[in-house]
Amino acid sequence: MLEGCVPRADDEIGRLRKAGYWAGVTLGGLLRERSRAHGPRTALVDYDRRFSYAELDAWADRLATGFARRGISVGDRVLVQLPNGAEFVAVCFGLFRLGALPVFTLPAYRADEVRHLCDIAQAVAYVIPAVFGGYDYRRLARQVVDSRPALKEVFVAGDPGDFTALSELDKESAEFADPDPSDVAFFLLSGGTTALPKLIPRTHDDYFYQARITAEIDELGVDTVYLAVLPVEFNFTWGCPGIIGTLHAGGTVVLAASPSPDECFALIERERVTMTSVVPTVMHLWLEGRHWSEHDLSSLRVVQVGSAKLHREVAEEIEPAFGCRLQQVFGMAEGLLTFTRYDDPHETVVATQGRPVSPADEVRVVDSDGRDVAVGEIGELLVRGPYTLRGYFRAPEHNAVAFTENGFYHSGDLVRFTEDGNMVIEGRLKDVIIRGGDKVSATEVEAHLTAHPDVEQAAVVPVPDALLGEGTCAYVIVAPGRPAPGLPVLKEWLRGRGLAEFKLPDRVKVVREFPLTGLGKVDKKVLARRLAQQPAEAR
Ligand code: AMP
Repeated sequence: MLEGCVPRADDEIGRLRKAGYWAGVTLGGLLRERSRAHGPRTALVDYDRRFSYAELDAWADRLATGFARRGISVGDRVLVQLPNGAEFVAVCFGLFRLGALPVFTLPAYRADEVRHLCDIAQAVAYVIPAVFGGYDYRRLARQVVDSRPALKEVFVAGDPGDFTALSELDKESAEFADPDPSDVAFFLLSGGTTALPKLIPRTHDDYFYQARITAEIDELGVDTVYLAVLPVEFNFTWGCPGIIGTLHAGGTVVLAASPSPDECFALIERERVTMTSVVPTVMHLWLEGRHWSEHDLSSLRVVQVGSAKLHREVAEEIEPAFGCRLQQVFGMAEGLLTFTRYDDPHETVVATQGRPVSPADEVRVVDSDGRDVAVGEIGELLVRGPYTLRGYFRAPEHNAVAFTENGFYHSGDLVRFTEDGNMVIEGRLKDVIIRGGDKVSATEVEAHLTAHPDVEQAAVVPVPDALLGEGTCAYVIVAPGRPAPGLPVLKEWLRGRGLAEFKLPDRVKVVREFPLTGLGKVDKKVLARRLAQQPAEAR
């Protein structure tokens, strides 16, 4: 097991294998096997480019060889920050084959976040697009490389500028020994309760299991056409069952570059898409888009909605608007997934987030003293299971508080279970704002805000938002003798500090003092409640 990861006990691994949860298959091996079974079938569609299983498999082999020739080897970490496209999938499978470890880096991340990931991952290489969404990633890479000498290579999909073109790697093929399936395959990023994201090691075994069990529940098969709408770096898109589950089933993955109804509805019609997964904010846009769109969406069988709370009124609209099933999904990159099932009663589908996907998932709901609460009562969700992490990468201090002594992960989510075993999300303990499905760590933004000369103190809290579900509001106390900074000033400041756009506050409120808790800490609950109680136009 990679140094810096928390291993499972040998007897647990034995039990997981014996029970058949862990199949001993690597992700690279999965593609190889599927290519043998379904060679000429279409695996990936990226606009007008189509790749069969055999082509994707051969492409992954060539990239693995190219990476190896450039000095990347087993266990090396590589930041992969590519938009939704065939290159992301091929690069990841190339790295899996080699036993090198992709770090799934959101395209929205900027210099501060990327530097942090370089440091924590000790990355040796970085894969970027040339330009995406009007932003030149080669400039970002230049900023990062100049301050991170350990980063030896930058590979660019497209015009490489001063760096190396990804196509340079795509030349010849060699054979590689399959990595150990119980080893780490790649890293997802945590939604972040601490200032910056932590790395979540996902092993071949645990991720293949997650994709396989969710593909079974959702009855995926060779006729499945999955539309990847959200960023491919999201766990939701990559493997719930998402891209990996669809490839496992021998289906077709269609990649959308943006979640806009225009683009997605056209792709659904053209490719006869059967399944997709979105966050509630995207679902709002799609429901609106449905009113004016004339695209034929009749191929859709199921739309998964998750990653942020789906309100019942919206849930009720989905099945009639799209003529397909709704599946609610609660998930976390750390592991546990709960799904509503296809044969659940209507009430369960619109009002709950369903049940754990594996019979081996262990969930507890506890009070603030760590005692289990009665069914129906609200408490913190603790989880352990065959695909839930045992520790963040190289984070012993955080792991000491994020896990119980016997390995249950503190999710920071407040939930309750119904009598029939379905979970309902009621709130959260962690200091995170879920802005349209993107997770914003309040602590991270506060740290950057207080570095501004006009800001003495900052407290970032959620504000109800009709489209996003939650927006972010930064309360600030102005530094003595300084002017009160407005929203444009603070946004520009945060951009300049290398923060992703989705983390910039939607509102700023200047106050003289903060309400305090009995322990003298800023009482953010009071701030958030005050905001929520104000009429929308006054917020
Ligand atoms: P991430 O690891 O970025 O997917 O974030 C995981 C977190 O997203 C969970 O711990 C929850 O706080 C939140 N989350 C995920 N799914 C849902 C859902 N269906 N409803 C409400 N919150 C959700």
